[in-house]
Amino acid sequence: MNSDDFRHHAHEFVDWMADYLDQVERFPVKAQVQPNDVLTQLPTDPPIRPEPVSQVFEDFQSVILPGMTHWQHPNFHAYFPANSSRPSVLAEMLTATLAAQCMSWETSPAATELEIRMLQWLQQMIGLPGDFIGSIQDTASTATLVALITARERATTYRANDSGLNHGEELTAYCSVDAHSSVEKAVKIAGIGQRNLRRIPVDRSHGMIASALEDAIVKDIEASRHPICVIGTLGTTSVGGFDPIREMSQVTTRHNVWLHIDAAWAGSALILPEHRQLIDGIEHADSFVFNPHKWLFTNFDCSAFFVRDPEALIETFRITPEYLKTRQDSVVTNYRDWGIQLGRRFRALKLWFVIRTYGLEGLRTKIRSHIQMAQETAAAIDAAPDFELLVTPALSLLCFRYHPVGVDDATQLDALNEALLHRLNDSGSLYVTHTRVDDAYAIRFVVGQTDTE
Ligand code: PLP
Repeated sequence: MNSDDFRHHAHEFVDWMADYLDQVERFPVKAQVQPNDVLTQLPTDPPIRPEPVSQVFEDFQSVILPGMTHWQHPNFHAYFPANSSRPSVLAEMLTATLAAQCMSWETSPAATELEIRMLQWLQQMIGLPGDFIGSIQDTASTATLVALITARERATTYRANDSGLNHGEELTAYCSVDAHSSVEKAVKIAGIGQRNLRRIPVDRSHGMIASALEDAIVKDIEASRHPICVIGTLGTTSVGGFDPIREMSQVTTRHNVWLHIDAAWAGSALILPEHRQLIDGIEHADSFVFNPHKWLFTNFDCSAFFVRDPEALIETFRITPEYLKTRQDSVVTNYRDWGIQLGRRFRALKLWFVIRTYGLEGLRTKIRSHIQMAQETAAAIDAAPDFELLVTPALSLLCFRYHPVGVDDATQLDALNEALLHRLNDSGSLYVTHTRVDDAYAIRFVVGQTDTE
């Protein structure tokens, strides 16, 4: 493709992109295809001869698009949002054009220094204490894994990194019964083992019971096990529960255990001063993650990960073969040492575009409006005789069910709600997902898309 063709197609694509975002409501929110519908339309062999971009673009529209779920649709209320915005998309175009691999300061100084500054901005925006230092990770799953491995190394004085986990010592980790599945995945990968992950019960408001955490840690210590990490959640995936950071931190401080806070979704709401009480006690945590790619209008992927002791993190992950050494290593930040992957995308650019073009006030207005819409929906559910909320709404997340007057059999109610959910999603007009609340099938509804009104 020569430069003229590139320019021509780029303009054509940008027109398509602007129309798509304006008219996304023309599409069914959830893809209405069946398994293999897309695959069977794709040739089994790669093309030998070049094909025109116009043909590929046509196929994108006819083959790919019908198989996409439209996450930017205003009626997307499933899972947690992965919202984006026009400024974020523009920045991604620039990132893709530069196509820089930003593993070290030297491989793109501006990428590193912009990342440093953007993480400082985010830190201020959400009210994290100044002694946290941030980096961008691809996802919250990765950030939690990185925190757990760092906790493991700090607890074993870097012995596990050196000689493996063959010291006859059982390491243990703790999270609430409502913690995200990424915690379980992290303990598997980090060599802690699923059976050494303690699931601490939650109270009626779905926050971890700190006294039960204390009991579990003491029991493990008495059995000569080694507690290394507690993972607390702000905004659990199922029902939006908030673990009590201050109370948990009293336990982790007493036992010298790493405290990691997973605020993947709810963290963005901390830009609203009225929700800051959720991080009461955060100054005693060791690490914290939230996802601008969920609820801060920055397209996937972009996860903001903060630690209080970057030296422990770097000591855990640093590897410097000869071919990666640079003259400035002793005076610069090399983010390749801050996590698992060596190669890094330039993700800070889209944060810069989003934060500058919305301004903090603009971001606050958007997130406040999402919470307000969810609260109004909750009030409507409360007022409807045939519907009920199953938990107190958390920020912009509601769990509710259809409960027709006179139908009280649990199995029948579950079946009715499952049928209702599929009917709604198959209609294409909105997308919601489900969970279970005290064993009852619940419809889970989240407000968080950029253009939801
Ligand atoms: N933690 C929580 C509380 C979540 O809700 C999610 C995803 O929804 C994750 C972690 C995983 O996020 P990611 O996809 O960034 O790994």
